[in-house]
Amino acid sequence: MKTIGLIGGMSWESSLNYYRLINQGVKARLGGLHSAKMIMHSLDFAEIEILQRQDNWSAAADILVAAAKGLQAAGADCVMIGANTMHIVAPEIEQAVEIPLIHIADATAHALQQQNIDKVGLLGTAYTMQKSFFKERLKQQGIDTLVPDLHEQDMVHQIIYQELCQGVINPSSKQAYLNYIDKLTSQGAQAIILGCTEIGLLIDNSDTSAALFDTTLIHTDAAIDFALT
Ligand code: GLU
Repeated sequence: MKTIGLIGGMSWESSLNYYRLINQGVKARLGGLHSAKMIMHSLDFAEIEILQRQDNWSAAADILVAAAKGLQAAGADCVMIGANTMHIVAPEIEQAVEIPLIHIADATAHALQQQNIDKVGLLGTAYTMQKSFFKERLKQQGIDTLVPDLHEQDMVHQIIYQELCQGVINPSSKQAYLNYIDKLTSQGAQAIILGCTEIGLLIDNSDTSAALFDTTLIHTDAAIDFALT
């Protein structure tokens, strides 16, 4: 089994799920007492969030690159960023280490292609919905992305930072997300990407008939595939 290197803490609420899902997946495939070989470098999200707001992606890249190098030095066979947004600095990490980076957008594109989906709705932070790093990666693999309107994007973003990343689960926020999902579906989205690793804390398949692609589930599955092959 290979050792997974995870840059976590963005937020730790979702890192808990990464740790649990990867271990559950390894146990499901290997049985018995098996668990994942894993090294995590958990960051202080408050420091990262300030840099995000300041648009200071190079300082954020320095922090994540140092974490990735540390994981490599500690024996990790791959590195994963346990968040969608911080994949903005994925190119800097890929340049800085020799071990592969398991990219969340590539894993998501692969899962969509397996279901022959080429038009999706995307919910995530404003950075993920507005910048090109995620949508462009899907586009290169033949998948078009729809996002909510700007007011709705702001709501989705605020709920992530003010509630989900702080462990707050609010029924009215859940309803708001379900409304955005319905709207994106009526605009032609064949499926919805939960493109933020905390959204799965708020909604899952039991809440909607829309096909949900939860990036936390997809990303952890990709890591398990890597570790066990
Ligand atoms: N975990 C989130 C994501 O998947 C949001 C927090 C962050 O900005 O890293 O994008």
